Amino acid sequence: MPDRWIYHFGDGSADGGRGDADLLGGKGANLAEMVSIGVPVPPGFTITTEACRGFLASGTWPEGLDAEIDAHVALLEEQTGRTFGAAPDPLLVSVRSGAAASMPGMMDTILNLGLNDDTVRALAAAAEDERFAWDAYRRFVQMYADVVLGAPARSFEARLREGRERLGVATDADLTADELRAVTADFLALASRTGHPVPADPRAQLRGAVEAVFRSWNNERARSYRRVARIPDDLGTAVSVMAMVFGNLGPTSGTGVAFTRDPSTGERRLFGEFLVNAQGEDVVAGTRDPLALDGMADALPEAYDALRSVARTLEEHYGDAQDIEFTVERGHLYLLQTRTAKRTAAAAVRIAVEMVDEGVLDRAAALRRVDPAQLDQLLHPRLDPDADARALASGLPASPGAVAGRIVLTADAAVAWKERGEDVVLVREETSPEDFEGMVASRGILTARGGMTSHAAVVARGLGRCCVAGAGGVVVSEGEDRVEIGGRAFVAGDWITLDGSSGAIYAGRVPTTDPEPSEHFERLMAWADETRRLRVRANADTPADARRALEFGAEGIGLCRTEHMFFEGERIDTVREMILAADDDARQAALDRLLPMQREDFAAIFRAMDGLPVTVRLLDPPLHEFLPREAVDIEALADRLGLPADDVRQRLGRLREANPMLGHRGVRLGTTFPAISRMQARALFEAALDAAGEGVTVLPEVMIPLVAVAEELRRQVRLVREVAEEIMTARGLRVPYLVGTMIELPRAALTAHEIAGEAEFFSFGTNDLTQTTFGLSRDDAGTFLPYYVEHGLLPDDPFRTIDPEGVGELVRIAVERGRRGRPDLKIGVCGEHGGDPRSVAFFHDVGLDYVSCSPFRVPAARLAAARARLADCRGG
Ligand code: ADP
Ligand code: MG
Ligand code: MG
Repeated sequence: MPDRWIYHFGDGSADGGRGDADLLGGKGANLAEMVSIGVPVPPGFTITTEACRGFLASGTWPEGLDAEIDAHVALLEEQTGRTFGAAPDPLLVSVRSGAAASMPGMMDTILNLGLNDDTVRALAAAAEDERFAWDAYRRFVQMYADVVLGAPARSFEARLREGRERLGVATDADLTADELRAVTADFLALASRTGHPVPADPRAQLRGAVEAVFRSWNNERARSYRRVARIPDDLGTAVSVMAMVFGNLGPTSGTGVAFTRDPSTGERRLFGEFLVNAQGEDVVAGTRDPLALDGMADALPEAYDALRSVARTLEEHYGDAQDIEFTVERGHLYLLQTRTAKRTAAAAVRIAVEMVDEGVLDRAAALRRVDPAQLDQLLHPRLDPDADARALASGLPASPGAVAGRIVLTADAAVAWKERGEDVVLVREETSPEDFEGMVASRGILTARGGMTSHAAVVARGLGRCCVAGAGGVVVSEGEDRVEIGGRAFVAGDWITLDGSSGAIYAGRVPTTDPEPSEHFERLMAWADETRRLRVRANADTPADARRALEFGAEGIGLCRTEHMFFEGERIDTVREMILAADDDARQAALDRLLPMQREDFAAIFRAMDGLPVTVRLLDPPLHEFLPREAVDIEALADRLGLPADDVRQRLGRLREANPMLGHRGVRLGTTFPAISRMQARALFEAALDAAGEGVTVLPEVMIPLVAVAEELRRQVRLVREVAEEIMTARGLRVPYLVGTMIELPRAALTAHEIAGEAEFFSFGTNDLTQTTFGLSRDDAGTFLPYYVEHGLLPDDPFRTIDPEGVGELVRIAVERGRRGRPDLKIGVCGEHGGDPRSVAFFHDVGLDYVSCSPFRVPAARLAAARARLADCRGG
């Protein structure tokens, strides 16, 4: 058993402080801390989370707790000069919950405890206005009955409403003393109906309240909040008991909440709300409209000055913006709570940077202050916070940003409407690679099915398109021009708005606000760049993506997927001819037509990335991803090829695979159809030399996907080098280049020393490596993977955050063996994990040279890389 259950605070000194949140809860620890640094706080004491845990586990009252409570109540009586439960000056207390992790409003609090039929009269006699005493009493009875006795709160509200109607007044504050006395008597009677009347003895009240607060740790609200916020269920709550101060003692009293900086912009100014002549809960409950805090400067100027000075003290002491609760009793300011203020990403960045300017933080601390995962918010449009809109339905927040657009139901329609200058949102059951061009043409994508790593989600994040995926309330009927969203019917052309950051779907056009590049953001990013060791590249398939990647600070392209170029415009037809060609000549003819198109794309990307490396991956997906499925498309293709439709159907049938993810794709295509690799290499090197001829510095890196054995790679490397040498010799111009491979199969990771013999660089394809290590298909994981995460079988979705023990171990092995095979091997990662802050920290730790992620995640990766480096420096 611990040596004590209770820690005191008050009168300028306290047991414990801010470091004791585990034991005293965040609230109790900060109350103690504030007392120690001389901030005015009513005295009190905190019962530890240990007592709560013991009680909840055993169901028996902690031994010795009652005696300790009595001793600490006696100390409070001494420090306040009041008596608990007795006239003429009764001591009233609040009994407050507070866990180590902040769970605002989830557990219970009781105010004005210590009142009974006798002490209320003493309070009334002392107050100028006896209504105050009766109002305090009725509040206490109401809260006690609700929290401790479990009486239905509705009956109390109904009784109050009756009273107001009888007197013809609008608010409870206008009730007369007589009415309040009657209300209280009725409340006591209502409470008694639970079978346990409100005790008159304040010690019994206190015991009941403490026990109820302990129990509130396990109420439904708190449990579900913890599930979402990922707070463990076994921490327990502390209970802080403190002398009451009253904000409802007339016009020189009041209560409010304040942020020491504006929590949405970060501007350095006191920001908050205030109510004159009110008790704390009134602000939170929203029963009266509070004033903006500036109004307090006029109403209570001295208290306002005191508040500003306390705010400064707290900020300096904690080194961060605070969210505080305060009460003014007859002109005297008291602080009742302080905690780190929650804030938007914009505010987080601005506060961190300005605190460096103010000398409160150093740069490293500022970098640690901003959560990289939040940065996304800053780069995308958001719903206008002042817009008044109610969501129709919602799905998964798959790719951030907010957009309004007209509904289109097919990729073709998206492209056609976009060409007419319309803003469109593509709504599909789920998307497939065929929809790619339509997705590019859309401002946002909404799917009825699929998870956070569905095709729609992954592609949308890569493109920086807003996406809401797997929205249950969306019913798409294939081939029809209508869709149902949240029970409402829409037709193509109707406007909807998506919020990809929350997953909400709205009817009509909800106004959005564009991100503004901020000076604070640029400065923070510059500090991150000075700090990090890992380089950050972007995955970009088009010149437009490449330019955006540069804007966000990418230092090269780590993955350029050539197949995305295959879908554009008329090209898909040529690609289909190439795939379905009856013989080598016909295939070569189609490839010859593709060559100039690919060359132009590559040249444009090289120009955009002047001086920076560009990694181009040779064709990767299984071929049937490029082929038509619908009957009309098959017939059109047969026409182009001059073949009977049945013939084409047969060839398509031969290409069908049972498990394409593990089928004829990646290097296996280049191995069996070397002409494809040869065409791609030719396009790439011709483009490189074209650009170099214009004075552009090109650094091409050719990447071979899905290699399992060194020999596959050796043959492709030889082929690529032959093409490169031939072109460079013919043109009499040389550019430096590398040929390397993706490591995305366990066998490649395990034989990395052999593969490194053939590769000048490795790039981990962690999406496929995760699929093949776990033996699960990402596209099919939606039915069980969320269960695994929710029920604790896996700590995280391994497609979002790298699985350090399994997939990560393969990465570690491949790095070590690869560098053994080739000491100067350059190693990066280009899976989705490259933009996930926790995975970036892992990649830093295992010694990669760079990460590559979608352009919008580049800033998060830069910051995460800097923080990983800082963690290094601290650890070492
Ligand atoms: P929550 O965690 O829901 O905010 P709190 O324990 O902070 O609950 O209390 C609810 C309200 O009561 C707050 O506005 C708080 O400031 C106020 N309050 C708590 N204790 C006292 C007290 N001793 N005197 C005056 N007001 C108090
Ligand atoms: Mg509070
Ligand atoms: Mg792959």
